[in-house]
Amino acid sequence: MEDPSRDTIIGIDLGTTNSCAAVAGEEGTVRLIPYKGGDFIIPSIFAIDDKGHELIGHEAKRQWQLNPRNTLYATKRLIGRSPMDDVVESVQRSVQYRVHAGARNDVELDCQGRSFQVSEVASRILGKIRDVASDHLGFRVERAVVTVPAYFTDRQRQAVKEAGRLVGLEVVRVLNEPTAAALAYGLGKHLKEQVLVYDLGGGTFDVSIIDIRDRVFEVKATGGDIFLGGIDFDNAMIAYVLADFRRRHGVDLATDPVAMQRVKDLAERTKVDLSSRDAVPFSIPFITMTPQGQPLSIDMRFDRATLEQLTEPLIDRTLEILVRVLSDAGLKPEEIDRVMLVGGQTRMPAIQERLTAFFGRPPSKGVHPDEAVAIGAALYGWSLSAGGDRQLQLLDVIPMAIGIEQAGGETHVVFGRNASIPNARAIEATSSHDGQTELVLRMVQGDHPEAARNEVLGEFTFGGVRPCPAGEVRLEVIFDVNVEGILSLHVRDRDTGREMKSTVRITRS
Ligand code: AMP
Repeated sequence: MEDPSRDTIIGIDLGTTNSCAAVAGEEGTVRLIPYKGGDFIIPSIFAIDDKGHELIGHEAKRQWQLNPRNTLYATKRLIGRSPMDDVVESVQRSVQYRVHAGARNDVELDCQGRSFQVSEVASRILGKIRDVASDHLGFRVERAVVTVPAYFTDRQRQAVKEAGRLVGLEVVRVLNEPTAAALAYGLGKHLKEQVLVYDLGGGTFDVSIIDIRDRVFEVKATGGDIFLGGIDFDNAMIAYVLADFRRRHGVDLATDPVAMQRVKDLAERTKVDLSSRDAVPFSIPFITMTPQGQPLSIDMRFDRATLEQLTEPLIDRTLEILVRVLSDAGLKPEEIDRVMLVGGQTRMPAIQERLTAFFGRPPSKGVHPDEAVAIGAALYGWSLSAGGDRQLQLLDVIPMAIGIEQAGGETHVVFGRNASIPNARAIEATSSHDGQTELVLRMVQGDHPEAARNEVLGEFTFGGVRPCPAGEVRLEVIFDVNVEGILSLHVRDRDTGREMKSTVRITRS
């Protein structure tokens, strides 16, 4: 290699709870990047301690219990979101740090008296991963492929790219997590298989059907819920524990951030233990005190059956989404050659049992659920650095329709759900009043016919329209969604051929 800094493109799985990075060698063999000798995982957590020191990853996680208000975790759920989004309110209810509206129709997070944009937090985490990778590899890493849930909108993808820019890391591509997992499984095996990836991580659920034909990976359909993940399984347990405590002692632990943090930690550990055991103790000594100063403790036992009962509605939701994706792809369960599990939460036996019952055979153990996404990202990075897309062909889809908000408030769909990408489409437009010199297009993403119920992607303003009587100027608007699922627009005057490129993208609600 001439200049490893420029030639190497690492793969980063930027997860809701944990992140992981990998790099491919010259011949395409992949290694995960270890942190301080052993662990391959860096918690996606950022904190500031009392002395004003910024802590990222393990250091931030270690002090989480003691400093819950200034420890920002699961922030991926908020990336690229507007403050009006329902998700923002429910995140606020389940985290100890404060979330508030930012200046750019985004959300900001408070940490030790400072306010951070969500992409700044993501940039800190990406920066840490980059530094760990650079130390390990012995040169400065400058470029990466970063994975995102397939269900991310254009705006969320842009925010991830922005996060890279903020720390000087070029995000060469954003790649869908299930597609990355399929690459990790199938690249170089000369397969001809229809694979369904069921990806349930810490914060998001994705399901994609991918047709693998040797080096061609074609996504047939995708679906998901960016608000359904392991954290929700923890929250179901937490709600149960709090209700039990309230019943026994008449005390609501939800108002005590330090107690809540202890319950949260133990809930997650118990959930993980219950994947391999039938019952485990759930005890936290001296969690709080009565008004009379009497110490109170949590002392329960949790069994697998209770966990399964509490979380059944969550598993049901994943199955509903899976059924819709199968139908979008026009496939029956028996036409799927392999079901692949990705994401830590898929280790829960009940999930594997439900999938076995649905497909009539157990899911495949073909990839490591925690590592496949980073490995696939590294392979893709390697294929890009080794001479463009020649090494493999990726045909992905957009997860939700992209359209224009019309004057009456309806969505005019430009690309339907599951439209393949890269993709371009042109539509004709004209001026609506005499002498109009600007064309403004408000773009939305979502499957709702009412534009206001979809996510606003931005308002594109094109200046320099030829002033004419209303309806006379003939404009062609070209919409382009690139291989990453990111939208761009340009406008052409059909009579003069003049291009109007001065696109201003303002995102406001
Ligand atoms: P990921 O984002 O893929 O790292 O997934 C993390 C999620 O998987 C977290 O919610 C973990 O609690 C959960 N998880 C990890 N291991 C297990 C396990 N053995 N059983 C159940 N959930 C697990």
